[in-house]
Amino acid sequence: MNAPKCPFCQQSDIGILDSQRAVCRSCSKSNRCVFQFCMACQREWPRDASTTKSCVLPDCALRAALLSNTRISDPQSSVRGCPFFRACPGCKALLTHSGIGCPNIVCPHCKTQFCFRCLRRWCPGIRNVDHIEFLTRGLAFSIGNEMRPCIVVDNKQSLTEL
Ligand SMILES: [Zn+2]
Ligand SMILES: [Zn+2]
Ligand SMILES: [Zn+2]
Ligand SMILES: [Zn+2]
Repeated sequence: MNAPKCPFCQQSDIGILDSQRAVCRSCSKSNRCVFQFCMACQREWPRDASTTKSCVLPDCALRAALLSNTRISDPQSSVRGCPFFRACPGCKALLTHSGIGCPNIVCPHCKTQFCFRCLRRWCPGIRNVDHIEFLTRGLAFSIGNEMRPCIVVDNKQSLTEL
């Protein structure tokens, strides 16, 4: 992990209090109040939980996994360059890709099928990218979003949906 930064002011003027808890000095100064946050899930540490050592916020571990910078680097994998962890668009379960076969996976919990690269449920697939670019440029703006080529997205959208 890189040097921890405050998720709100993006500065690294922080003091680490526990394995998960840190205090941001610049936010504390501008808020005129001690400002603590969880380094794992990047959210404000609840003021009424000042004595607990581990984060009590919901989905802390899930968010921490989705925020991780670890990427799939196997050149043989159809999901190379994707974050290691994804949240299922159906039930938000934390999922990984086996690295084998096509980018689409089926969530074992809710049976939602989705593309590990672009997180869409109906992905046109990477093999068709050239064809789709031809279509979108030449013919049809009416085809709509579902025909956008498959581009690896980060987990930002999943995090806002949690
Ligand atoms: Zn700050
Ligand atoms: Zn947390
Ligand atoms: Zn699911
Ligand atoms: Zn896709």
